[in-house]
Amino acid sequence: MATPEEAAEAARAAGLPPTGPADRAPTGPGSAPADSPTNRLTRISKGQTLPTAVHKDVAAMDPVLEVRDFNLWYGRKQALHQTSLRIPQNQITALIGPSGCGKSTLLRSLNRLNDLIDLVRIEGSVQLNGDELYDDAVDVIELRKRMGMVFQKSNPFPMSIFENVVYSLRVDGERNKAVLEDVCERSLRSAALWNEVKDRLHDNALGLSGGQQQRLCIARAIASKPEVLLMDEPCSALDPIATSKIEDLMDELRGDYTIVIVTHNMQQASRTSDYTAFMYLGRIVEYGPSREIFTSPLLTETEDYISGRFG
Ligand code: ADP
Repeated sequence: MATPEEAAEAARAAGLPPTGPADRAPTGPGSAPADSPTNRLTRISKGQTLPTAVHKDVAAMDPVLEVRDFNLWYGRKQALHQTSLRIPQNQITALIGPSGCGKSTLLRSLNRLNDLIDLVRIEGSVQLNGDELYDDAVDVIELRKRMGMVFQKSNPFPMSIFENVVYSLRVDGERNKAVLEDVCERSLRSAALWNEVKDRLHDNALGLSGGQQQRLCIARAIASKPEVLLMDEPCSALDPIATSKIEDLMDELRGDYTIVIVTHNMQQASRTSDYTAFMYLGRIVEYGPSREIFTSPLLTETEDYISGRFG
């Protein structure tokens, strides 16, 4: 654990002014009360443009996904720097930060979607339940079944609602009608869409509204029982009513699914997520329980961002 002096030194080395409560906190054993920011601050890395603050309970938890010292370049441009993140099971983790800070790049790195982009080079480690995702031997198709992805713009396939939901089972060769119907109903119920579509399961999915299409994509993603559900700004193309339905749905999925969501919307992050990572310039700046990040962040950079002073 870094002392406040080390934190201040890291900030100075990075050419920054002292960076918040950790730098100003009293030193010496027993000088900080149990719930003080000093006690919650467990690590401040040196040698980074911004120091990283990881709150104690995220540092201690057992992760489903663990990113360690991950770097990513698009050609010569480095988009992620020494990124480390532990994603807890059956909780919602939000990635926030100004546009261009690397949120989507990090999310896409979690299921190797960046493999599809020319000139991408990576270093570091990402593990899903202990399996190294960037091993040469990893079957990327299998990996993507373990991690569902929901994009900014809903992307139902041009086929029926039913066939959209059971798509991954069909690809795996499942032909049993009862199994397919059961998965379809359970997935649509989990995605809070069943009541709206149960009488038209064989209609084309493209006839659904934008919000319904996005919930259909969530149903399709969870049909294959993924270990993690990744969501890249799932509400940014939706109106407020459709957005609140997706947020309600996320609330229902909490506890059963591990969700990582990228959002520009800080109210959404604070409403829906259990944990929040604030990113800036390709780095994780601060990571902790959302209620702490949004009410008592450790670093002034986080405070400035969540209070709208930049970004
Ligand atoms: P965010 O999701 O926070 O808005 P991104 O992950 O999209 O940020 O982008 C991070 C940085 O990487 C930005 O500078 C962006 O221009 C760059 N970038 C993103 N995608 C590509 C790409 N396909 N090719 C080259 N640069 C990219």
